[in-house]
Amino acid sequence: MSKLEDIVSLCKRRGFIFPGSDIYGGMAGTWDFGPLGVMLKKNLMDSWWHFFVEKRDDMYGVDAAILMNPRTWEASGHTATFADPLVECKECKSRFRADKIADGITESVTTEEFLNTHTKCPVCGKENWGPIRKFNMMFETHVGAVLPDDNAELADKNKAYLRPETAQGIFTNYKNIVDTIYPDLPFGIAQQGKSFRNEISPRDFILRDRECYQMEIEYFVKPDTWEENFEKMRALQHDFLTNVAGLKSEDIHEYEVPTEDRAHYSKRTIDFMFDYPNGEEELMGLAYRTDFDLANIARESGKSMEYRDKKTNETFVPHIIEPSIGVERLFLAVLSTAYTEDEIDGEKRTILKLPSHLAPYKFCVSPLLKNKPELVEKAHEVYNLLKEKYTFVTWDDSGNIGKRYRKQDEIGTPKCIVIDFDTLEDDTVTIRDRDTATQIRKKIAEL
Ligand SMILES: [Zn+2]
Repeated sequence: MSKLEDIVSLCKRRGFIFPGSDIYGGMAGTWDFGPLGVMLKKNLMDSWWHFFVEKRDDMYGVDAAILMNPRTWEASGHTATFADPLVECKECKSRFRADKIADGITESVTTEEFLNTHTKCPVCGKENWGPIRKFNMMFETHVGAVLPDDNAELADKNKAYLRPETAQGIFTNYKNIVDTIYPDLPFGIAQQGKSFRNEISPRDFILRDRECYQMEIEYFVKPDTWEENFEKMRALQHDFLTNVAGLKSEDIHEYEVPTEDRAHYSKRTIDFMFDYPNGEEELMGLAYRTDFDLANIARESGKSMEYRDKKTNETFVPHIIEPSIGVERLFLAVLSTAYTEDEIDGEKRTILKLPSHLAPYKFCVSPLLKNKPELVEKAHEVYNLLKEKYTFVTWDDSGNIGKRYRKQDEIGTPKCIVIDFDTLEDDTVTIRDRDTATQIRKKIAEL
């Protein structure tokens, strides 16, 4: 098995991630987070929020609606251009994203360019392609009482989209925040939330799925200060990825996106790539978006997006620097960094070496033997004590102690606390360390 397959299997076996709607045969590009996955994901999202919002004086949070007025997506250009090149094999009718099955072409590939690559169909092996068609990735829905057999005009009037990015919920609240909080520049607005993309071919586990959590910041700056603020944001991202998410810097590679590949409004973009088990993939992006977004909103809404400097009274439209990261991508990067196999006393084991602030549980408490009531009672006492203090504590009295250690190693619990007969005598417990498998004794009162 490849390392990715090992991780997928661990995720399913231990309750981190299950395939979506598995019981009905699944639903491509969807994944369900189980009890442990929810805890790890929540810890990741909370750490991000704490690092980028709570700890700082220049960041504000929003939680905007997923359904937004469709004019949002007209102004942002999504209705017109949020599309992937779709190509169909005329032999077997399979559909693909053209730029994902052929080398050396981009999303803007033409039919002719694609045919020139002489790509064979990954399913049937033939080379007989239809034309490239632009496939918009936004999920459409209808809002309000619209029936399928209603007239097309009404249906069209009530059309809405599941948001394809959280950023627009930030831009559209920029004026609300300026008018209520009166922040000084530079300041940022952060949002975490679900986004939806109708990927033509979801793949690579949770790397390319059809719905995902995004964590985005739009950082508003004075236009002539964008470069220094861009550098500050860039350093902050590294700080978060390595010191908070626990990734290794040697696995993170910055890719300066060249002018011809950048979105036309962006003056500078850096893709942060990560060495995933299946190869290098994008982990996050940092983009200087100029005044593109606010200018679009001002045009579409007819409302001024100008900011008035409190000291100089000068008015201007702020420019924006946007760091954007997908939670699932970060989750997989954290898992693949933590996933380790080693050998203890000739026995193979799997460990998730998660940083302890991210691990689903910090401690596991168990009685050495579960058929000795005095041990079980004492262990419950310790469990309740720790649970009150730390919250993230689990109880395990299944199987033998060796099996419990294996399980806690696999779910990344940093410390196992075992209550044995000595505990009854001197109130000390064994604390076993996940990474080194070494044990020390400590007084309960010192835990
Ligand atoms: Zn085919």
